[in-house]
Amino acid sequence: MSDTRLAGIGMTSARTRDRLVQRLREQGIANAAVLERIRNVPRHIFVDEALGSRAYEDTALPIGFGQTISQPFIVARMTEALLEGGALENVLEVGTGCGYQTAVLAPLVQHVHTIERIEPLITRARQRMKELGIRNVRFRHGDGSLGWKTHAPFDGILVAAAPLTVPEALLKQLKVGGRLLVPIGAEGAQHLVRFTKREQRVERESLGPVAFVPLIGGVS
Ligand code: SAH
Repeated sequence: MSDTRLAGIGMTSARTRDRLVQRLREQGIANAAVLERIRNVPRHIFVDEALGSRAYEDTALPIGFGQTISQPFIVARMTEALLEGGALENVLEVGTGCGYQTAVLAPLVQHVHTIERIEPLITRARQRMKELGIRNVRFRHGDGSLGWKTHAPFDGILVAAAPLTVPEALLKQLKVGGRLLVPIGAEGAQHLVRFTKREQRVERESLGPVAFVPLIGGVS
């Protein structure tokens, strides 16, 4: 990919990205490393070229297969909430989509394992990571609600699609002290929830209303 495409021109330029970062800051995102990733990850290469000029609006956009790239505020909020409480070695992401969230997160942790149920999205996301020189991500085509047993336990799990109740397998694959960020609920009534695993119990905090596509069992 050419340097110009990565850097962006016009509506995808540095100034446009600065405006997005400023807006996220005003909305309460405080983690400087997360804001720096939002500034540096070229979101326009994750969407269709025709939508490139809208890539730095704080909105979800279609990526094909009936799925969307997450809204930058949500990506920032989830990443920040996952990182609160210390450095992370081994993170599981469920719902790779186009890989934008993966690209924001990966350089902030040691390893990312990411699962997506729609195979062509994995192929595309893998290609984007290569273009960005991100090498600490392992991809899998599968049902992420079952977790990824062979690479568990995880100290962070981030779910980008909403189940009706928390998948037990994900809680099971969390280390003690680990955090699971997951939107829970039916469409139109979802909350972002952070579970923190303790020795004898699991803490649950609600981080406010959100809107995600549903988590679907099986693969496609
Ligand atoms: N964060 C992503 C967007 C994710 S959209 C980005 O930045 O692009 C949610 C994704 O979750 C979709 O791609 C959808 O196919 C996937 N998904 C839904 N249910 C799933 C499941 N059970 N396992 C894995 N992926 C799933």
